[in-house]
Amino acid sequence: MRAAWIFDLDNTLHDARVHVFPHINRAMTAFIAHRLSMSHTEAHDLREHYWHRYGATLKGLQRHHAIDPHDFLWHTHQFPDMRAMLVAESGLRNMLRRLPGRKIVFTNSPRHYAEQVLGALGIAGEIDAVYSIERVKFSPKPEPRGFRRLLKSEGLRASGTILVEDTLPNLRTARMLGMGTVWVSRELRRPSYVDVRIASIATLPETIERQRLLR
Ligand SMILES: [Mg+2]
Repeated sequence: MRAAWIFDLDNTLHDARVHVFPHINRAMTAFIAHRLSMSHTEAHDLREHYWHRYGATLKGLQRHHAIDPHDFLWHTHQFPDMRAMLVAESGLRNMLRRLPGRKIVFTNSPRHYAEQVLGALGIAGEIDAVYSIERVKFSPKPEPRGFRRLLKSEGLRASGTILVEDTLPNLRTARMLGMGTVWVSRELRRPSYVDVRIASIATLPETIERQRLLR
């Protein structure tokens, strides 16, 4: 069995809060308002409701409104000038090179967007596999199903993997499945299902050596 790092994408490998998420949220609200013939305010509220309830807006739109997921994901993740909108730590590529083992990205975002972000970050060559929402058959984190699909198709045992993530419910699922957990957060608390909290992804290699997280 091989060891592997499983990285979340948004707000883990880059900071989506400044430009990227507001752009996606605006596009999602516009899409929902148009397709479901709602006011902007209603569409905004519905988007937030599904995000909180399912971990992904798409899940609610599929379940309750029969929205075509490919159509939704394509129209809501358009970035003609991604490089100008990305906010990220410098030295990401060297950081990844210092980590032993396979590196996999697991994101609730669509494939075309994930590849665009990884390319713009200059780390596409360091990532061995990308599990987008399409590749896990639209079972978003924190549902265990997508995690299991990833582990199975990569031939990985959960105990040989570490999830690096900013979203706590996703880390809770990872721990439940037996994975190691690294929380990227500036908060000071550390829930029991988090092995290590780091304020910045840049410090991951040092932290791993110090904590002997890879056994
Ligand atoms: Mg995230």
